[in-house]
Amino acid sequence: MSDAPDRPFTVIAIDGPAGSGKSTVGRRLAATLGLDYLDTGAMYRGVTFAALRRNIDPADTDVVARLAEQVELDLQDGTLIVDGVDATIEIRGPEVTRAVSLVAANPAVRKELVRRQREWAEARNGGVLEGRDIGSVVFPDAALKVYLTASPEVRAERRSKEVTDLDYETVAADIARRDAADQGRDDSPLAQAEGALVVDTSDRDVDEIVADLVARLS
Ligand code: C5P
Repeated sequence: MSDAPDRPFTVIAIDGPAGSGKSTVGRRLAATLGLDYLDTGAMYRGVTFAALRRNIDPADTDVVARLAEQVELDLQDGTLIVDGVDATIEIRGPEVTRAVSLVAANPAVRKELVRRQREWAEARNGGVLEGRDIGSVVFPDAALKVYLTASPEVRAERRSKEVTDLDYETVAADIARRDAADQGRDDSPLAQAEGALVVDTSDRDVDEIVADLVARLS
């Protein structure tokens, strides 16, 4: 937990499509500011993992909704424990990645996870949250709202370095499919929040981006 109790409630919202640099920028920015960091995509992945593990069909909205309300998600320092099981590796795997956008389009799942995200931030007087709807829905009054982008080629290149067992073409197709699902859903689609600062990370250094964001806060 951060050690700045006197600071006013400060949320920084970072949104953007897959591979746009949210995690890298978000983690670095949080460390620089002494704020905690929350990867909300890992929460949607955690619910998806729990469903697959119990052989629940991700399209079964009512059952998945109940699961989302009950599942225990313990997210700390880059690890995710789901109902006592370490899911850190598996939530990044192809099965979860394939099904997560369907689970994330379920309004009852979103309602529950948004509630937990707000609770997380209230408990530590703010933080850096990254996802798809943080600036638009979860914290529209955030102190700073950032929308990260990068070219489709750069995003696919970044992801294929992380997911070494899949080739570039497969990763690029997966990203395109997931972006379309995230942008096209009815509930809280991925979109630039009103007032968000748009940053193209394609050719920019992380330190430079973080310094720029820190300067905008003061
Ligand atoms: O950030 P990441 O790629 O791990 O997110 C996985 C999926 O979770 C996204 O493709 C999206 O469907 C969903 N998501 C969301 N809202 C968020 C964060 C993630 O719908 N705030």
